[in-house]
Amino acid sequence: MTGFSTRAIHAGQEPDPRTGAVVPAIYQTSTYKQDGVGGLRDGYEYSRSANPTRTALEECIAELEGGAKGFAFASGLAAEDTIMRSLLSPGDHMIIPTDAYGGTYRLIDKIQKVWGIDHSLAKVSQADAIRGEIRPGVTKMIWIETPTNPLLGIADIEAIAAIAHEAGALLVVDNTFASAYLQQPLALGADIVLHSTTKYSGGHSDVVGGAVVVSKNVAVPEFADAATRIGFHQNSMGAVAGPMDSWLVLRGLKTLAVRMERHCDNAEKVVDYLRSRSDVTHIHYPGLDSHPGHDIAARQMRRFGGMVSFQLAGGEQHAVDVIGRTKIWTLGESLGGVESLIEHPGRMTHASVVGTELEVPADLIRLSVGIEDADDLIADLAQALDA
Ligand SMILES: *Cc1c(COP(=O)(O)O)cnc(C)c1O
Repeated sequence: MTGFSTRAIHAGQEPDPRTGAVVPAIYQTSTYKQDGVGGLRDGYEYSRSANPTRTALEECIAELEGGAKGFAFASGLAAEDTIMRSLLSPGDHMIIPTDAYGGTYRLIDKIQKVWGIDHSLAKVSQADAIRGEIRPGVTKMIWIETPTNPLLGIADIEAIAAIAHEAGALLVVDNTFASAYLQQPLALGADIVLHSTTKYSGGHSDVVGGAVVVSKNVAVPEFADAATRIGFHQNSMGAVAGPMDSWLVLRGLKTLAVRMERHCDNAEKVVDYLRSRSDVTHIHYPGLDSHPGHDIAARQMRRFGGMVSFQLAGGEQHAVDVIGRTKIWTLGESLGGVESLIEHPGRMTHASVVGTELEVPADLIRLSVGIEDADDLIADLAQALDA
């Protein structure tokens, strides 16, 4: 199919042949009538294995990422666990970012490690640092986020794909922060892309979900059957997206492109405002020329996204006080919804990495810039900072 929004609105979602319904039905069913033993209609047998609403989402997200096969899960972390468990074995090694979603690090450090998957940390913005952590024949997966959460670091997907493939390892990209609209990791050489669809894909803070898309050209022969393995694991382990949740994400995807344009517009205006303030000591936003990953981001992203982090003179307590004073910016975890959110990563989303190499600055404030009127967002930040 053609452009991004055309795919977002139509892929996997033909009008219903019986009724003409334009929107895919929520097939809230666990099982399917068989026409004689084993006589399945359209392949549907039991909704852990497959459900038509989930199929629609899986086809849509695969089209949006330009991949061979999509899978929808009950959460982003269920998607991550499925990638790791279906493709890695005890004794294998993976390289993960020093700046990553805290839950990802917890999954790898507290669950996969016990199971026998070892890991090393490397700064994703330094491709050579990643190369330096490779253990020949043992490193099977390089895992990156870009932009990273919460410091908005940028990884060069194309360069890291080359490093991974030379070593016989897969490159997995967590594309949650950028969304499929702003960045297409598979086209840049990644083998697998994943999303917490809870964030921009769903986009309305009303669903928790995850998705995985496998490339049409998995570059490591040992993992040529990656999609089959992930599908087998998805059904065997069963953390699938339910019909209602699948439908909500599908609905969100239809407006992803227009929402992302507005998220980016508003983030740029908020960044301009923050730059005007002398008490803001550091702004982490890849759209800034001064950002060390700016050129790479400009090359591999359509625009620079709706996430902004910044540091404030006055230390941790001042940052916490400012966060407590906003009225339109809702104090809360998560990101990527239409409403603007503000949070303190050190005590909230990234509390699980305190005391590790992933610990974030104590005076850091993270913004998920929503799609409200930018002037209102800026006025609210101003009153919170000036109070
Ligand atoms: C939220 C998030 C996840 C985890 O997804 P859940 O849906 O909360 O399980 C993974 N990666 C990133 C970058 C996230 O922001």
